[in-house]
Amino acid sequence: MRTFIDVLRDNTIHGDRAVTFVRTNGQERRVVYPELWAEASRRARALQALGLSKGDRVALILPEPDEFVLSFVGALTAGLVAVPMYPPATLAKLEAYGDTVRHVLAASGARVVVTNDALRPLIQEHLLGSQSADTRLVLERELGAIDPGSAHTTLPDVRGEDLAFLQFTSGSTSRPKGVMVTHENLSVNSHAIMFDGLRSTPEDRGVSWLPLYHDMGLIGFVIAPVYALVQVMFLPTMSFIRRPSLWLDSIHRFRGTITFAPNFAFALATRAVTETQAGGWDLSCMRALGCGAEPIQADVLRAFLDRFAKNGLSPESILPCYGMAEATLAVTFHDLGKPLTTDRIDLATMKNGKAAPAQDDAPSMELVSCGRAFPGHEIRIVGPDGAPLGERQVGEIWLRGPSVTAGYFGDAEATAESFGDGYLHTGDLGYRADGNVYICGRSKDLIILNGKNHYPQDIERVASTVDGIRDGQCVAFARRSTSGAEEAVLVAESRRLGEAKRALVEAVTHAVRAELGVQLAEVVLIKRGTLPKTSSGKVRRRETKMRLENGQLDLVGEPSDDASAPF
Ligand code: ATP
Ligand code: MG
Repeated sequence: MRTFIDVLRDNTIHGDRAVTFVRTNGQERRVVYPELWAEASRRARALQALGLSKGDRVALILPEPDEFVLSFVGALTAGLVAVPMYPPATLAKLEAYGDTVRHVLAASGARVVVTNDALRPLIQEHLLGSQSADTRLVLERELGAIDPGSAHTTLPDVRGEDLAFLQFTSGSTSRPKGVMVTHENLSVNSHAIMFDGLRSTPEDRGVSWLPLYHDMGLIGFVIAPVYALVQVMFLPTMSFIRRPSLWLDSIHRFRGTITFAPNFAFALATRAVTETQAGGWDLSCMRALGCGAEPIQADVLRAFLDRFAKNGLSPESILPCYGMAEATLAVTFHDLGKPLTTDRIDLATMKNGKAAPAQDDAPSMELVSCGRAFPGHEIRIVGPDGAPLGERQVGEIWLRGPSVTAGYFGDAEATAESFGDGYLHTGDLGYRADGNVYICGRSKDLIILNGKNHYPQDIERVASTVDGIRDGQCVAFARRSTSGAEEAVLVAESRRLGEAKRALVEAVTHAVRAELGVQLAEVVLIKRGTLPKTSSGKVRRRETKMRLENGQLDLVGEPSDDASAPF
C-alpha cells in the first residue's frame, strides 16, 4: 500500500501538474507537485522543530485554502495526527464556536494550534479559555518560512496503520466526535472514489469550495485526487456562500470535470445565480457532479440540471452518493454517467417501514438512489434485532469493509456502540431496491406517532412549500406531550409578526396535515438566521428541541441581538 505521503513524494516527477488555490481576495496561487512536496517537508520539519513527534495531534484553524492544505500535508508528512477545525466565521455566535474549539482541543489532546495572523488574537483571547496556558498557538506563515537546510531532522516512516487525522463528525445529532482515520483508510477510500466511483484519468480536473475541515472537501479533493494525478482548484467556502456563481464560474474557467456538493448548494446556486452571470458559461466539461453529505431532494437536483442545461450541463453528470466520517468518506456511489434514478414510494406503506412503489394518485414521497457500495464493501440493511431485511424493507444501514475506521478517538464507549460487532452501525435508515440503496433518514430523528413512522425531512419539505417559511430553514421533531404520548413539533424561521404570524402557523399546520396526515402539536417561529446548524450547514434537530425546552430559541416577536448565520 502506498500512503498519501508516498504518493505526494512520488508525484514530484510530474513537474507540470499543480493544485490551484483561489484566496478570499480572488488571488490565484498555483503550486506544482514538486513544490507541494517541498512545502510539505519544510512544514513537517518546522513542526518537528516545535518538539512535536509522530502520533502527536496538531489542530489547524486556517480559513484560506492554501494555508490549510500546505499545513495539513506538512503535519501528515511529519507523522502527526492533524485535527482540522473550522474557522470562526462559519458560526454566527462566537460563544458556541468557543465551546466547540475547547471541546475538540480537549477531546483530541492537541497542544499546538496552527492558525494565521488574522485569527490569532481572537483564538488566544476568547476561545481557548482555561486551556490557553497549555495550548501553543503557531502561525502558519512561520511554518512555511524556515529554511529546510537548517533542520536536520529525519522524517518518520509513516505506515498504513498510523493515524493520519481525526475527522470530527458534523455534530448533527450530538457533539462532534473525533473519528480516527488511518493512512490505510485513506488509501482504500481514495482508490474506491477515484477509480471505482469516478473512473478518473489524469485529464480530469476537480473544482471544490467545500470546507477543508470536513471529509468531503478534505479527502475528496486534497487526498484522493493526488492518487489519480487529478489537478484541483480550491475556492474559499465563504466566497461561495457569499457569491454562489463562483462555483460554476470556476468550473467553466478551469474546465472542471469533477465537483461535489451537498443538496443545499444546488438549491442555493439555482436560486442565486443570475442570467447575466450564467450567460457565457460552457459547463459541457462537467462529467461527475457529485451530491451527498445530507438528504438529497430530487426536485432540487432536477431544477439545477434544467436551469443549466442551456450552458451545456449534461443531466447524466449527476452523481448522488452516500457516506459518513466513520467510513472515511464515501460508501456508495450512483453509476457514473447515468441520469438521476429516483423511487416514488407510497407514504402509507412507508409509515409501516415498507417502501412499496406508489400507485398513480396515492400520497407518495420521492427518494434519490445513492447507488451501490464500493467493491470490497458490504452494506446490510437490518431490523431492530440485527437480522438482515429483504428488498424494499426499511431498516438500519450497517457497513463492513476496509473504509470503516477504527472508531472515535479517546471514546471507547461510543466506539463500542457504533463499531461493536464488526459492522459499523450508521444510525441511518434505508432500503434496497433493484440493487440500489436509498437513504430515508436518521433513525434517531424518526417521528413515531401512533406506531407510524414519519420522517422529519418530509414534514420540513411540506412546511417549506408554504409562503413565509424559507426553504430548508425549519426542523421537525417528536416530543412527549403532557399526556405522555409522542407529538410532532415544527420550529421554523420566519419574519412574520402579529396576525400574519398566526396565519402562517395555521397555513403550515394545514399543509402538513393535508399532505402527510400529520397533526403538528405546535409550530414555533424563530428569527431568521437562528436555527441551530452544524459547521457544514446541516440542521441540528435535537439541539433545536433542547433549546426549545430550555427557552433558548430566539422567538419571533421578542427582542434579542440579531444573529446572521452564513448557511
Ligand atoms: P454527527 O455524527 O456528529 O451527528 P453527521 O452524521 O451529520 O454528524 P457526517 O459524518 O459529516 O456527520 O455526516 C454523515 C451523515 O450524513 C450520514 O450518516 C447521513 O445521515 C447523512 N448523509 C450523508 N450522505 C447522505 C445522502 N446521500 N442522503 C441522506 N443522508 C446522507
Ligand atoms: Mg454521524
